[in-house]
Amino acid sequence: MVYFVVELDINRTISDISETKVNRFSNSPAGEHYSALTPSSVNPVIDRKTKPITSQSSKYQGNGLVGMRNLGNTCYMNSALQCLLHLEDLRDYFLENYFRSDVNSNTMTQGNFAEGFADLFQSVWSGNLNCIVPTNFKKLVNAYRPDFRGNDQQDSDEFLVFLLDALHEDLNKVKKKQPMKEQENEGKTQSEASYVAFINWESSNKSKISDLFYGQEMSTLTCTTCRHSSIRFDMICALVVPIPNVVHHCRLQDCLSLYTEGESIADWNCPKCRRNSKESIKKLDLIRTPKILIVTLKRFSKDFQQWTKRQTFVEYPKTGLRINGSTYKLVATVNHFGTVNGGHYTASVYHPDLKV
Ligand SMILES: [Zn+2]
Repeated sequence: MVYFVVELDINRTISDISETKVNRFSNSPAGEHYSALTPSSVNPVIDRKTKPITSQSSKYQGNGLVGMRNLGNTCYMNSALQCLLHLEDLRDYFLENYFRSDVNSNTMTQGNFAEGFADLFQSVWSGNLNCIVPTNFKKLVNAYRPDFRGNDQQDSDEFLVFLLDALHEDLNKVKKKQPMKEQENEGKTQSEASYVAFINWESSNKSKISDLFYGQEMSTLTCTTCRHSSIRFDMICALVVPIPNVVHHCRLQDCLSLYTEGESIADWNCPKCRRNSKESIKKLDLIRTPKILIVTLKRFSKDFQQWTKRQTFVEYPKTGLRINGSTYKLVATVNHFGTVNGGHYTASVYHPDLKV
């Protein structure tokens, strides 16, 4: 199982950039298998000692080290795309055209995202290009997400969730969706309730994307007056984790612990004691782990109507990240650096065929 991290890092100042580099694989002891890809770069970063990929497939002419032209503040899109376009689990599916039999043209996007994404995949791995210009793909995004039109800066994590959702719908094997049943979790064991919620969701959602990226999150609300608990389940394709306050340096595991620790929620009407609980606790758990886990670091919080940002340096392991019985290996990161008024995204990806 693999994971990648999206750093939501709008406020990072220039003086922090050197610190950011510590997180970049290319400067790390294990960096030989990673390559920093700068989305706006015309010339891809290629190590001269890189051996070519010796794949039997005609689709793998290149080594995938291809730049992506910035079309005007589109680094949020390019960095997310670079991460997805280098995931081994998606490569054969799109390059060998297996996806084609899954394309569902009855969706709102009529299969266009699946086709457009496959075109990008083929361009990146064709071996014919040093840099690709994702104009057509951006037009597609603009057509279905008007708020991404123009040259405004956007959040990479928001784009990623939108794209995975669009790809999932375009590749959904369930051609006619059933209305989602209301969850009735009272009286069921946790595993039973989780299973029923998952089966209900899966009866309308079954795609290569959901198989790989979607996990099940359980939220538990507990009334502090009578201890009554209420649980519900949601399928998510990105795990958004908070960053501990105050500390300057922490590990990703600390963020994950904080995520599962729970927080106070005001004004929840407890169905059992009917009191407006002042101190109910909302706790989250990722109980069904996806094969590919996307972790978004939540660097922003709103305290007294003012947005503040955690400047904490977060260290994440290259291998051995344990979440609920699953073990993950790091394969990509999206980094943002700049100021509150503007910045730039870059991506770093794991490249299994690179040997230095
Ligand atoms: Zn209660």
